[in-house]
Amino acid sequence: MTPQTPVTTLPFIGSKYQQLLLKLGIQTVSDLLYHLPRGYQDLSKITPIEEVEDGVLSVIEAELLWLKKVRLKNGKLMFNGQIADTTGKLKVAWFNQSYIDQTLKVGQVYRWAGEVELQYGSRQMISPQAELASRPTINTGRLVPIYDQTAGVSSKWLRARIEPLLSKTADLAPEYLPDWLRQQYSLLNLPQALRQLHHPADMAEASQARARLAFNEMLLLQILNISHKRQWQSQKEAPLLNVESAELHSWLDQLPFQLTPDQLQVTQDILQDLTGHQAMNRLVQGDVGSGKTIVAFLATLAAVKNGYQAAILAPTSVLAQQHYQTFQELLKGINPLNSTPSLALRTAKSKANPADITIGTHALLNDQLDFSRLGLAIIDEQHRFGVNQRSFLLNKADHAIHTLTMTATPIPRTLSLTVFGDLDVSTIASKPANRLPVKTHIVPQAKRQDMYSFIQEALDRGEQAYIICPLVEDSENLQVKSATQEFERLQKIFPNHNLALLHGRMKATDKDIILNQFKNHDSDILVATPVVEVGIDVPNATILVIEGAERFGLAQLHQLRGRVGRGSTQSYCFLLSDAKEATDIDRLQHMTHHDSGIELAEIDLQQRGPGEVYGTRQSGIPALKAASYFDLELIEKTRQAAEQLITNDEVTTNPTIQAHLTKLTTETN
Ligand code: ADP
Ligand code: MG
Repeated sequence: MTPQTPVTTLPFIGSKYQQLLLKLGIQTVSDLLYHLPRGYQDLSKITPIEEVEDGVLSVIEAELLWLKKVRLKNGKLMFNGQIADTTGKLKVAWFNQSYIDQTLKVGQVYRWAGEVELQYGSRQMISPQAELASRPTINTGRLVPIYDQTAGVSSKWLRARIEPLLSKTADLAPEYLPDWLRQQYSLLNLPQALRQLHHPADMAEASQARARLAFNEMLLLQILNISHKRQWQSQKEAPLLNVESAELHSWLDQLPFQLTPDQLQVTQDILQDLTGHQAMNRLVQGDVGSGKTIVAFLATLAAVKNGYQAAILAPTSVLAQQHYQTFQELLKGINPLNSTPSLALRTAKSKANPADITIGTHALLNDQLDFSRLGLAIIDEQHRFGVNQRSFLLNKADHAIHTLTMTATPIPRTLSLTVFGDLDVSTIASKPANRLPVKTHIVPQAKRQDMYSFIQEALDRGEQAYIICPLVEDSENLQVKSATQEFERLQKIFPNHNLALLHGRMKATDKDIILNQFKNHDSDILVATPVVEVGIDVPNATILVIEGAERFGLAQLHQLRGRVGRGSTQSYCFLLSDAKEATDIDRLQHMTHHDSGIELAEIDLQQRGPGEVYGTRQSGIPALKAASYFDLELIEKTRQAAEQLITNDEVTTNPTIQAHLTKLTTETN
């Protein structure tokens, strides 16, 4: 048996279990070993029958005295029995387990795990798990591992498959880290760690073992990031894009507003990067509405000024078009080359050829376009793109290309030290000064009518509103249906105003029309499925209603809220929820207390993990099994260890590390 041996070669695993295990990501015996327990049940102590307490999970070692099949009045089968040890006797009972008499034999001694309850006037252990006392302990008599299970694959089943592998961990998961590293960081050796994790003698052993696996996991991430960074640094040279300070100021003078100090600082970070032969690889994070576009605009001028092209990639055609219009306005009166730079829009619909500045969607990547003079690539809303696409235009020129990514989903420090470790990060923390914080309220159903009256008044003042329908997971059709119903209902509530409906099933061109109408104030209320999340800018919209708010994550709610509060008028966000769970309400309360995306993202990340917050596949953030993105100490230790391994040239020469890295890369791309 090798690590790569398929699980189907193990006893009891045929094609049915092969399929079920695939859902858990398990294909090989080593995958099975790396299916880590998510906790333990302490069944290590044997309790004498006379000491067993009601309602407490206990293990008894006792002989089965008798077993009897009984048919209940409703036709269902149950089994009654009795067990005895030297201290007393106890009834046992099973419901709906018609095979139990085939697995148990009267006269044998078993370990029984379960809870004792008072039923029909007598104390009984209900549906206990039984294991022959003469056999080695798997499901009782120890710290029993609990696994993530899927329908049809129980923890008990997994234990029975994993336990026999534990004597072979030296072959199935051989140590691959050098001795010096294990000594320096006091790490348990890997085969032992896996044995201990699945079958610990006590909790101390379990946590020691988990620490080793967490180290592996984070170390691989760090190696990957450092190699990305080095790969980036070893590229061909990038063009020097110099901008004199006087020229920058002449551009700034032409802008319709003054940059905030943060915008100015980030612009300077970028211009500094552009003056080096080392291609820029910078991420600008800033809350929705913090004003990232203008920073991107100034960067494109730097490219154009030096005779190079700039390209901006946006996730939707609506956003690309919006940027195009914004740039058109901004460019008026700015002449970096004694003439106004040319501008092109490239989407599925608009086929303009690359110009000095080209703005577009995926169409930019797919088409064979002439970007041979591309000096700067900007990716807006980067979390919407996979890792591969982030380096989309890199092969389009015979020099390296400065790259700027922008995101409104803030990245807490621990993540910027791990998965975003290869990027330089700049932050726009403050919003333009004319902004008032959005007032956010949780609206109980009883206040719904009051809310509609409040909206009515705002519309009468000439303001606009978004109403976001609940998220319907997994079914676009249901989503569209509920949005359509809501749209019809709302038309009756606001008969004197124009309502428009926007949902994911519409054609892109229809979406553009609806959004442009809303932008031009031809409609007053936009009823939408959560598609408006991505960057649309309508400063006259001051009210945002989110139905079924509890179904959204905090980061997503915050993104949605960013649609309002974009002008100088006070804006409002109303969260409607049927949630009965106190935890849901508590979560929504965070929205009313926090105005900053970074705080909300931290809370969200703690509560739901990065896969949910950033979308694991989309963002290239792998889900962790043993490690945590909040373990700063581990993050720093493994970063140092990764540097050491790479410097010692012990990464490229290590086939196991290479195999793990390949797996990690394919998982996140
Ligand atoms: P985001 O960071 O979400 O991409 P935008 O770049 O779309 O934000 O900016 C949001 C709005 O704020 C736009 O209408 C923009 O014109 C305006 N804006 C940006 N910077 C400033 C500023 N310094 N002063 C006033 N308004 C600004
Ligand atoms: Mg934006």
